[in-house]
Amino acid sequence: MTTYIETILPLPLGGTFTYILPEEMAGEVKVGMRVIVPFGRSKFYTALVYGVRFTPPENVELKEVIGVLDASPIVRPQQIKFWEWIASYYQCTLGEVFKAAVPSGLKLESETTISLVEDFEAEAPLKEREQLLLDCLSAKEHTVAELNKLMGMKNVLPLVKRMMDMGAVSVSEELKAKYKPKMETYVRLSPEYMEEAKLSALFDALERAKKQSELLMIYIQLSCFMQPQRRKEVSKKALLDAKVSPAALTAMVEKGIFELYKKDVDRIEEAPYESALTHPLSDVQQRAYEEIKESFTSKDVVLLHGVTSSGKTEIYIHLIEETLKLGRQVLFLLPEIALTTQITNRLRRVFGNQLGVYHSKFTDNERVEIWKNLLEDKSYKVILGVRSSVFLPFKNLGLVIVDEEHENTYKQFDPAPRYHARNAAIVLAKMSEAKVLLGSATPSLESYECARSGKFGLVELMTRYEGIELPDVMVADVKEARRKKEMVRGVFSPMLIEQVRKALERKEQVILFQNRRGFSPFMMCRTCGCVPRCQNCDISLTYHKSTHQLVCHYCGYTMNVPTLCPACETPELEPRGFGTEKIEEEIAEIFPGVRVVRLDLDVAKSRKNYEKIIHDFEEGAIDILVGTQIISKGLDFERVRVVGILDADSLLNYPDFRAFERAYQMMAQVSGRAGRKNNRGIVVIQTSEPDHPVIRQVRNNDYTSMFNVQMNDRAAFKYPPYYRLIYIYIKGKEYAPVYSAANYLATLMRQSFGDRVYGPDKPVVARIQNLYILKVMLKVELRASVEKAKAVLRELTNLTLAHPAHKSVYIQVDVDPM
Ligand code: ADP
Ligand code: ZN
Repeated sequence: MTTYIETILPLPLGGTFTYILPEEMAGEVKVGMRVIVPFGRSKFYTALVYGVRFTPPENVELKEVIGVLDASPIVRPQQIKFWEWIASYYQCTLGEVFKAAVPSGLKLESETTISLVEDFEAEAPLKEREQLLLDCLSAKEHTVAELNKLMGMKNVLPLVKRMMDMGAVSVSEELKAKYKPKMETYVRLSPEYMEEAKLSALFDALERAKKQSELLMIYIQLSCFMQPQRRKEVSKKALLDAKVSPAALTAMVEKGIFELYKKDVDRIEEAPYESALTHPLSDVQQRAYEEIKESFTSKDVVLLHGVTSSGKTEIYIHLIEETLKLGRQVLFLLPEIALTTQITNRLRRVFGNQLGVYHSKFTDNERVEIWKNLLEDKSYKVILGVRSSVFLPFKNLGLVIVDEEHENTYKQFDPAPRYHARNAAIVLAKMSEAKVLLGSATPSLESYECARSGKFGLVELMTRYEGIELPDVMVADVKEARRKKEMVRGVFSPMLIEQVRKALERKEQVILFQNRRGFSPFMMCRTCGCVPRCQNCDISLTYHKSTHQLVCHYCGYTMNVPTLCPACETPELEPRGFGTEKIEEEIAEIFPGVRVVRLDLDVAKSRKNYEKIIHDFEEGAIDILVGTQIISKGLDFERVRVVGILDADSLLNYPDFRAFERAYQMMAQVSGRAGRKNNRGIVVIQTSEPDHPVIRQVRNNDYTSMFNVQMNDRAAFKYPPYYRLIYIYIKGKEYAPVYSAANYLATLMRQSFGDRVYGPDKPVVARIQNLYILKVMLKVELRASVEKAKAVLRELTNLTLAHPAHKSVYIQVDVDPM
């Protein structure tokens, strides 16, 4: 009987792909294993086994599976179920989910580049093919496809895979960080010499071979052989470091006295830690903790609404501890890599090497190791990670914590799957019978509404730890100050300067927040008003003074600042508005000798840099920290007294239906960095609309009022959480077909959905990376079936794309956009 293997390919193609399993591989294959399959004319992919069948699909010509990569599945069946939900809910293919979910070290493809591991030493003589592969790679790295040609093989992948496991070759990553399974060679005495009598006989036998008996002696010392309880493993490196003769070692291995073996040394550095007990909770925290547990008896999801610095993290730690005691795993989600440093330290103190950290700033190799560690159910019980960690192979998930649940970085935008990690985590938890705790000082309207209506549990914690008061929020009217010509260097209000000065005199720290990086958001010609724009995108270029360049923040396009205005050719281009670079420069000039450091995306490109700044600020080696939203959330600093929000107007005027909610969250969060320990903090908000309702809500720390006002608007204008949104983006290199396709689609949609369809409209940035973009919006009532709506939508987009005039166009669907 022929076996057929249904697979998922890591490609944006719908459906699964079936292959014939050659007889000799029968019985080897299970769902969740990787197989190598041919695809197209000459490509090979690592595919994931989705099903094993005994009847072939009809009317297709089938190819054969080329090789099986695994001895056991690398993805659990339950994960595949979760992938199916993601694909169906977020309208993408299983292949796209596969691609996003699994680290690339586990997905060899024809395009993958393979290189030599430099210090590889073979233990056993290599087979001819193996040596040939190393020879091919000795001069330079090659892709798998190139290797096929060079080696004259149909498929070199199984060989590559074998040699990767040996540690001889590795996958090169974009960053050129080399994949290097860190296998170390260890040495042990053959079992037959383990008895004392045999061992002393061996010493006698080696009497003449001085170097060998010396080596044996050293081995016995290093391994603590004479004290069986303390015996430990000895690496080859340790022996060689002890100056034994390598020739003697080889000889003794050949004689069968010693055996060599490989050991996988975990690559994630395990920093030494002192396991500490958790802090006891305060009475208020204890009460919240009890309420959460009580709430979990009837609800799957609980929202912990706790003001900044109320000690939410401390409560999480207690819940994690309890979950681990029950033998279950915990996933701790954070919205951003930048936040992991501080939380890692806090969790590491308590959970030591049960904690695994997973995010994209780690090398692929480190990610593979976390994956395998979970798959084999080894040491990691708590995973701290950003959104992609929802895809890890958990076995017995008991609790998911989503910290700063309101953050929009939980939503993946490009590429598909465009999933929301908080919402996906809730589904994942349900599938695993785990509980979910959402935490925030400024919950999203969506979550708060669920909590208010009883779908989620709700626990509130309205006082800061140790009863420190929330900061005193003052508002500086910049319109007035400008009129009176009081603005300092055009950027700072006298009120802010005054507060900064006082803080510095008291040796306290200051945070200045401006949500724009670069020196100024744009340059403008004084003569003709021309603003240099990106050649690929419909947006002005940001001026970066440190590099003296104009940069597009959408596509990365960079040019030197022109000396003459591109339009009128007068030398009158000048920076307008201000970003973090300018604030850094100006404040340092106003307060000479003060240590000012900037933290934004440009600086935080390297994890080391970022970590150093956070550390220096914690240690008091920095007086003023200037930054973007990176510094707004989650961070816990003791000595920050004053926070300045330089341009609240830009937050309030952002063209999006969530702008006011976001502005509130952003301002409340940055404010929350002030006065966390010891003294009450001070916040100065600079705005030209001091009476704006959102400013008032921030000043009064009045989340409820913000919530009520915004919910009214959302109901009135049919937005979430009352309606579900689906955005359909129509993109293409030429405008005419994009325009035609967008209108065609919108017309079709109106026939099915009536006035639930809006657009097509231009999005805020209507051209990115040379692609014109139009947007059609669909608003679906909560009680309507979204599944049905999506199925119809899928049909209509296919119809639109099938039209001959729309060949050059493509369509992206974003479900629950943020
Ligand atoms: P949140 O997560 O709500 O912003 P944190 O958990 O970061 O608050 O707590 C704020 C500060 O108070 C931290 O420095 C934390 O170490 C301290 N803290 C909170 N709860 C306790 C506790 N029970 N014992 C000791 N310190 C605590
Ligand atoms: Zn651009």
